Amino acid sequence: MKNTHIKTELPGPRARALIARDNAVVSPSYARDYPFVMSHGRGAEVWDVDGNRFLDFAAGIAVCGTGHSHPAVVQAVKDAAEHFLHISSDFWHEGQIRLAERINEIAPMQGPVMSFLAQSGTESVEAALKLARHVTGRPRFIGFLGGFHGRTMGSLAFTSSKYTQQKGFFPTMPGVTHVPYPNEFRPLYAGSDQGRAALDYIEEVVFASNVPPAEVAAVLVEPIQGEGGYLVPPDGFLQGLRALCDRHGILLIFDEVQSGVGRTGKMFACEHWGVVPDIMTLAKGLGSGLPIGAAVAKKAIMERWPRGAHGNTFGGNPLCCAAALATIDLIEGGYRENAARIGDYFMRRLRLLADKYPVIGEVRGKGLMIGMELVTDKASKTPARALCETLLNRAFQNGLLLLSCGASTLRFMPPLMIGESDVDEAVTLVELSLRQALAAGAAPKN
Ligand code: PLP
Repeated sequence: MKNTHIKTELPGPRARALIARDNAVVSPSYARDYPFVMSHGRGAEVWDVDGNRFLDFAAGIAVCGTGHSHPAVVQAVKDAAEHFLHISSDFWHEGQIRLAERINEIAPMQGPVMSFLAQSGTESVEAALKLARHVTGRPRFIGFLGGFHGRTMGSLAFTSSKYTQQKGFFPTMPGVTHVPYPNEFRPLYAGSDQGRAALDYIEEVVFASNVPPAEVAAVLVEPIQGEGGYLVPPDGFLQGLRALCDRHGILLIFDEVQSGVGRTGKMFACEHWGVVPDIMTLAKGLGSGLPIGAAVAKKAIMERWPRGAHGNTFGGNPLCCAAALATIDLIEGGYRENAARIGDYFMRRLRLLADKYPVIGEVRGKGLMIGMELVTDKASKTPARALCETLLNRAFQNGLLLLSCGASTLRFMPPLMIGESDVDEAVTLVELSLRQALAAGAAPKN
């Protein structure tokens, strides 16, 4: 099949020239998988600087939930920019107040919440950790292996989805104890209920032998593990975590940076299990691409840190707040339901592929947060890393932007406004790319 949207070799001449300039002056630390150089985007389509058109099922790492440059978001940002670009969090403005009010309306917690506004996921996590320490007076935390929470020294202390994120940066913030996240596809704990086993491990091993629970400020967890492999926890796990925290006076922090704001077909992923956190972190999809994050906490918790305890310069930036308000309206106005409906359709189509190809070990997810794990064979479940890498590159050559996660999982996190025809195009390109990768001998080897 010839993809008529790709008009040049990839990367094309303009992309090559820009990448050469970038190589000279931009930090090489960014993890870039293939040479896509953006020109512009609309909805779920993006064009590179050589005029090639791609279907974007990465959405800027689950950020552009409303699609690229949604007119309502662009208009809201333009309107805000006409008034002022910045005032700093030392002062008040209505956009910030309206956004905090709106978050209070949609937050899963019962009762009022307050928000600390930031610019990114990692900064939201830092705020949540500082708040938890401040109000509990406790020094320790529990985190999960495979988790990703950011790359600053506090959030990095929890991040453990890839070795390269840690190597060379120790010591990070002390006091974090990691426990395995329940993984039903590749069980780490003995027994059939991986969720129960994970909870028992915390209670009966970690708390009994090493970490006094009375010293633990909070448990930080992704309700669906993102960078670690798009792992959906078994039913009962988050409920059990809530009960465990309540037993010991520990705060429960849900990191909804990737899974929040409609991505999973609910406003927040934790709503799939009806479990309510004490503190929740947001970023990514909240601003449709404008850099905004939030640490959201029950009012009874956040009202306890005093003036000056935490702050920033750019928090509550008026353009970001305007983008977030427009985004929430769009998500509530139909994109959340669309994510649930199209996500089901997409998952069904990918599962049909999994029936055909022994290298697709599992398709899992909720809404439009879907992972497809590649394995050498279904019996051994050995991660097929090389195949995953080749498939990503083939997909790019074929006009589809994807990213990976975990050891060998392709993740699909398209804009939430896509339709069935976008899914059909993506699945066709995934299958084509998979066949090419297998034919090229990228082998289902490890
Ligand atoms: N938390 C989760 C669950 C994430 O997926 C990420 C980023 O991928 C972060 C935090 C960090 O966000 P940022 O890259 O905006 O700092």
